[in-house]
Amino acid sequence: MNSTSEIIVIGGGVIGLAIAVDLKLRGATVTVLSRDFQQAASHAAAGMLAPYAEKIPPGAMLDLCLKSRWLYPEWIRKIEDVTGLDTGYHPCGILSLTYDTPTSIDENWLDRETIQLYQTELGSNVVGGWWYPDDGQVDNRKLVTALHQAALNLGVDLIEGVTVRAIQQQKNHVLSLLTSKGAYEAQTYILASGSWASQLLPLPVYPVKGQMAAVRMPLDTDNIPPLQRILFGPQTYLVPRQDGRLIIGATSEKVGWKTGNTPDGLQTLFSKAIQLYPPLKDWPLSETWWGFRPATPDEQPILGTSSCDNLFLATGHYRNGILLSPVTASMIADLVLQNKTDPLLHQFHYDRFSFKPSSSSMTLNSTAMPLTLNYGSTPAELQNTSDELVIAGRKFRSRLMTGSGKYANLDLMRQSIVASGCEIVTVAVRRVQTKAPGHEGLAEALDWSKIWMLPNTAGCQTADEAIRVARLGREMAKLLGQEDNNFIKLEVIPDAKYLLPDPIGTLQAAEQLVKEGFAVLPYINADPLLAKRLEEIGCVTVMPLGSPIGSGQGIKNAANISIIIEESKIPVVVDAGIGTPSEASYAMELGADALLINSAIALAQNPVAMGQAMGMATVAGRLAYQAGRMPIKQYASASSPLTGTIG
Ligand SMILES: Cc1cc2nc3c(=O)[nH]c(=O)nc-3n(C[C@H](O)[C@H](O)[C@H](O)COP(=O)(O)OP(=O)(O)OC[C@H]3O[C@@H](n4cnc5c(N)ncnc54)[C@H](O)[C@@H]3O)c2cc1C
Repeated sequence: MNSTSEIIVIGGGVIGLAIAVDLKLRGATVTVLSRDFQQAASHAAAGMLAPYAEKIPPGAMLDLCLKSRWLYPEWIRKIEDVTGLDTGYHPCGILSLTYDTPTSIDENWLDRETIQLYQTELGSNVVGGWWYPDDGQVDNRKLVTALHQAALNLGVDLIEGVTVRAIQQQKNHVLSLLTSKGAYEAQTYILASGSWASQLLPLPVYPVKGQMAAVRMPLDTDNIPPLQRILFGPQTYLVPRQDGRLIIGATSEKVGWKTGNTPDGLQTLFSKAIQLYPPLKDWPLSETWWGFRPATPDEQPILGTSSCDNLFLATGHYRNGILLSPVTASMIADLVLQNKTDPLLHQFHYDRFSFKPSSSSMTLNSTAMPLTLNYGSTPAELQNTSDELVIAGRKFRSRLMTGSGKYANLDLMRQSIVASGCEIVTVAVRRVQTKAPGHEGLAEALDWSKIWMLPNTAGCQTADEAIRVARLGREMAKLLGQEDNNFIKLEVIPDAKYLLPDPIGTLQAAEQLVKEGFAVLPYINADPLLAKRLEEIGCVTVMPLGSPIGSGQGIKNAANISIIIEESKIPVVVDAGIGTPSEASYAMELGADALLINSAIALAQNPVAMGQAMGMATVAGRLAYQAGRMPIKQYASASSPLTGTIG
């Protein structure tokens, strides 16, 4: 019997490799069994990261795609760091072009005249298009090579050239895999074999062939190619790679396992491409190829548990497997190692094809749940007008502050912030400057006449960096019309793993910034002595963390936070770690003056509803604190008097 790993992944395409790398990074021992990388869809793809250009309708699938696109930059950084290899990740934006005048247009629409200003020589039939700046591409071949190398570097046992022929099961439990190289055994198995998944289990996954080609783009005198962003047209797309190749895709053929490029397929491919962008007809052809997309009846992946207790499924990614790799890897690793099920995962369970829940059953998903809930009173309506939060002389009705990061898109961010009733939103100066995903368009997304911006120095590792970024933050607030905004949320965080603040750097930066006239709101560990010192030097709040940023672990240091609250004369804002409304309420019940909550709202399945819930919890916790809790007693005490009872 082969393999001493805890987990075996079947399939070494982008999905299998991404899962293996994620599992390994979290400490598991992993073997990947894979037949042939050259046959993988991952090798054949165009590598577009295109939830919007693909026109995926709102719902769980779009949520999944947007979540994955959001995870991409960090995921790529990790792979490139581990391997030193380039993946060709390029958030170049996509122009989705049309030949028909649309019946409705939105803010992304550009007419032909406008498009022509920065993309010349489009086909004469193009009437206009939608510009999706957040969509982009990765060079899928480079990506898979890098993932392969990452797996090797990390110590994944990668076995190529082996075919799994059967999954041996007993009483809903996988015993072993029978392969072309003998039997393999592990505790847990993950099926990630793309289009071929149905050869091992009765899953509705089938191949849809796509034929592709590449031509070489000419360069101008400055070595710039004529196409720099993806053109996505009717039944064709053109993906300019940074190495000068132009990828042309793709046919979509339900022809079973018929391999190879065909004259008819290539003719269709080229004629559609030339119609969209005529100059390419003269460019030298460098390659043609084909691949099988792993399709399912509803064109959505199959993810999660299976009928066997130790077998998990990650297949059927159809047209979006390259895009969906990071989110698939992270959700499957959470499920396998921690038995943690992201609510979104329920939507992609295999039983949706055989099992229809009755109409009375409750579903927990963002599509079933309206984004805005009507509970009669919004957090803003619940707030007590005579109980204002005062920071540096400025008054706020809401005691909840939120952030702008980690949302799937700007619209969701805007709606969630509005639903929370908050009046202060913190914004990472660096991310706005570098136009990090989700930070483009921030200026327009929120009504800054109603919301007070709290610039923060996230990403700064030293006091000097934080001071420089704080100064930029002041300029940023001015640009939004907040001339008198001198607030700065000070974060000095040298540690990338736990994101814990540096107390010495924070104190040094705070001293300087107070001297420069800033209203400093320092983010600190819950250290009462540091909090006191920061108050003494003139900070306007202290912001102790409940647990590490983005961890959602809740309030892990209530005793220290209580001491800070008791000793402080300036507002105490509990920042970081809150994961649920009950934890938000708990922090307020302790006597915190305000809360700052970002991840718990942005990463909720329904961020808008969670924003509203957090807003209400903040109000409830404050009211409870003011009401004063009953004393805790050692023994029971009946609610009704015991005197006068009969018998
Ligand atoms: C023409 C084309 C264009 C595409 N363009 C895009 C795009 O622009 N953006 C995007 O996001 N997605 C795109 N896709 C889709 C994307 O490529 C797939 O969804 C994704 O690659 C699926 O990855 P996978 O790892 O599940 O499967 P695959 O990449 O197909 O890998 C499966 C692997 O499992 C191995 N295997 C199968 N059976 C066995 C077995 N029994 N034993 C051992 N090993 C086995 C195979 O040899 C293969 O290596 C495109 C696909 C095609 C074909």
